Amino acid sequence: MQIYRDLNLKVISKEFISSNVIFLRVEPDRLLRYEAGQYFSFSIEPKVNRSYSVASAPGDEFIEFLIDVTNPGKGADFVRGLNENDSIVCIGPLGFFTLSKTNHENASQFLLVGTGTGIAPLRSMIRELLIYKQETRKIILYFGLRYGEDMYLYDEFVELQKKFPNFLFNMVISRPSDNWRGLTGYCQHHIGSDGIDLNTNVYICGSTKNVNSIKEHLINIGCPKAKIFEEKYG
Ligand SMILES: Cc1cc2nc3c(=O)[nH]c(=O)nc-3n(C[C@H](O)[C@H](O)[C@H](O)COP(=O)(O)OP(=O)(O)OC[C@H]3O[C@@H](n4cnc5c(N)ncnc54)[C@H](O)[C@@H]3O)c2cc1C
Repeated sequence: MQIYRDLNLKVISKEFISSNVIFLRVEPDRLLRYEAGQYFSFSIEPKVNRSYSVASAPGDEFIEFLIDVTNPGKGADFVRGLNENDSIVCIGPLGFFTLSKTNHENASQFLLVGTGTGIAPLRSMIRELLIYKQETRKIILYFGLRYGEDMYLYDEFVELQKKFPNFLFNMVISRPSDNWRGLTGYCQHHIGSDGIDLNTNVYICGSTKNVNSIKEHLINIGCPKAKIFEEKYG
């Protein structure tokens, strides 16, 4: 897959989908191929780059990103300041957190665990598998967020679950309000060894701390290390 060093992404739309997460839709200045799970490196200012995973699937009309702008930072401030029709200079597509690099053809099923905007590359894979590849193996998603009030993508995953019986969606809220009726705590609290076999491909994405603790749990319950793939946001 070709990596472009001078790519321009035109902002088609920018929308807050929760109080601190921006859903960015862009159009590249050329026809390019990327794989579900890859990322682009945005040039924020000379010699300052920030990586953002693609949340769309390669067959989607636009490239989409989910960007957490909770904390001030060079990347967050840059994305907050973007307007429609602005151009983002970037390098990409980059990265190996992809289905093709993880021997997915031989997996019995897929277990995906994402926290916060770590859901982005997992959404890309889910869309790729279900919508574009008519995947029939089981795809189990655990999506962890802190607050139910700030939930995003919930309706989209519920809709996919209705449409595709092999897709099992679990939303997990760590600091729920009194009216949240779903799963609480951390994703790993709800993942047991039941139903997970030695051929399950596992994909984890989120902050380093979250990825490490989820991975440790999965190894403890018997998932082979070689079947666990991760993307850490730092
Ligand atoms: C492969 C990869 C893919 C990624 N994909 C995504 C993605 O899809 N979505 C996503 O949201 N993130 C993603 N990230 C993380 C992203 O690249 C950035 O690291 C992250 O958004 C923080 O960058 P920043 O420039 O906003 O903060 P930085 O400038 O790097 O600062 C880091 C932290 O320091 C603190 N800080 C900095 N400046 C100030 C200030 N002025 N006042 C107070 N505190 C401050 C803040 O806590 C801030 O979060 C990815 C990372 C990698 C490696």
